[in-house]
Amino acid sequence: MSTKDLWLSVLKRLMPTIQKAQFITWFQSTVLVEIKEDGTAIVGVPTVFAMNWISSKYQVKLLQALKEVDATVKNVEYEVLGKLADKESVEGADVKELFKETDDKKIRKVRNVNEVTVSKGSRGERVVSKMLNERYTLDTFVVGKDNRLPHAVCSAVSENPGGIYNPLYIYGDVGLGKTHLLQAVGNEVLRNFPDKVVKYITAEKFVSEVVEAIGRRNMHKFKEQYRNVDVFLLDDVQFFARKDSSQQEFFHTFNELYDANKQIVITSDRPPTELQGLDERLKSRFAMGMVVEMLFPDFETRLAILQDKCKDFEAIIDPEVLSFVASNVHNSVRELEGVLRQAVAESQLSDSVPTIRSVAEIIKRLNKAQEIIGYDIEAKRTEMIVKQATDVMAIVAKYYGLSVDDLIGQVRKKEVMQPRQICMYLIKQELNESYEKIGSTFGGRNHTTVMHACSKTAEDLKKNLRLVRDVNALKREMGL
Ligand code: ADP
Ligand code: MG
Repeated sequence: MSTKDLWLSVLKRLMPTIQKAQFITWFQSTVLVEIKEDGTAIVGVPTVFAMNWISSKYQVKLLQALKEVDATVKNVEYEVLGKLADKESVEGADVKELFKETDDKKIRKVRNVNEVTVSKGSRGERVVSKMLNERYTLDTFVVGKDNRLPHAVCSAVSENPGGIYNPLYIYGDVGLGKTHLLQAVGNEVLRNFPDKVVKYITAEKFVSEVVEAIGRRNMHKFKEQYRNVDVFLLDDVQFFARKDSSQQEFFHTFNELYDANKQIVITSDRPPTELQGLDERLKSRFAMGMVVEMLFPDFETRLAILQDKCKDFEAIIDPEVLSFVASNVHNSVRELEGVLRQAVAESQLSDSVPTIRSVAEIIKRLNKAQEIIGYDIEAKRTEMIVKQATDVMAIVAKYYGLSVDDLIGQVRKKEVMQPRQICMYLIKQELNESYEKIGSTFGGRNHTTVMHACSKTAEDLKKNLRLVRDVNALKREMGL
């Protein structure tokens, strides 16, 4: 049996013993990496939280289930693999599909969460639209007075793609639910019209695909991808500003699809008129379609969103605590969700319930993290994703009030040692640089020192809640 099948059998055994929502939360995108000679099963999990949670709550059950499917297994260890779906070589288990399988025996194919393969009717052509997240639907979007219009328009588009709302242009600040609605259109269209081909892509990805295609001289193949698209969903179009050749390519794609009456939905952080660097003709085409703005939801809607998310997390939280969060988060729904997620995770780790005090602490921390970096991280999110070790070093140094030289230097005080080790860990985890390379970035240290730093930090993350929070705050600052 392949490790993948083995893992699926393990999950199927665990499923009936754990509440559905919990099971989905913690086992989504997990993977069995290997079973070593010595009987150690290495389980890959997407986040440190998942690792902490699984190892503290489900260790015994998990080991039991593993032993049942492979008698050689003696113990379990975990590895945090980051966003599994991004790494094409490792395919994390899609546990929601497992439920569907048991709920509905007719479903034969197990799909990856972030990858929707759509068959195009009788012609049998396929378009793979990555990153269409099934969680984002119109039903899971909480409607209040400030976001009723975008929701209604998206619903109309899903029922009648290529109809009167074309192109549809949705704009608003970061974290207000644009991507959610955009992907919801994709999911709803596929549900309503299984034959239609949906393509979701971020402008950033579009740019990199164009650049890559030009480099490989196969623009032809690139264009081919769009030929049969019925619904084209482009996220964060502001990214196109001043990206010339790719903007041209987008212009062509847009026109071809538009002329063929295909539905186009675009999101952006600003209205069409304010897209600097974008072709005037494109701007006026956007403006001629349906343009809707998304606003930060009012208090009642924010509260309703929090209540909804509590159900997702299967968490019961004092209504006063929820009201406190709803009235004290002022930037985005993403932040609202982030505070709640953090509060739930912390309370689960420490076996306590979230209180006004504990959530206030989390909100304060998030705000502080934003101040430290000097600007609103959320607003810069797309541009901010770090690419280099030196960026990570700058962020870590700033966060701990140190200098980059302190991190590189030889001081062995705990206040410097720990940030240094965390920094190495983050570079390894997020940029996947070699231990040697990290060592040389840190003033020519030996690779074993780096390995030690990484494994020590990973160990500490299992027990040290504060560290978990710091690492999460740092990752946010890194745009992750
Ligand atoms: P944007 O693309 O505008 O930056 P996202 O679509 O990524 O924002 O939304 C951020 C998070 O907030 C997502 O997890 C999304 O599901 C959630 N969210 C935003 N608005 C709502 C809403 N009205 N109801 C439920 N969840 C929401
Ligand atoms: Mg978005």
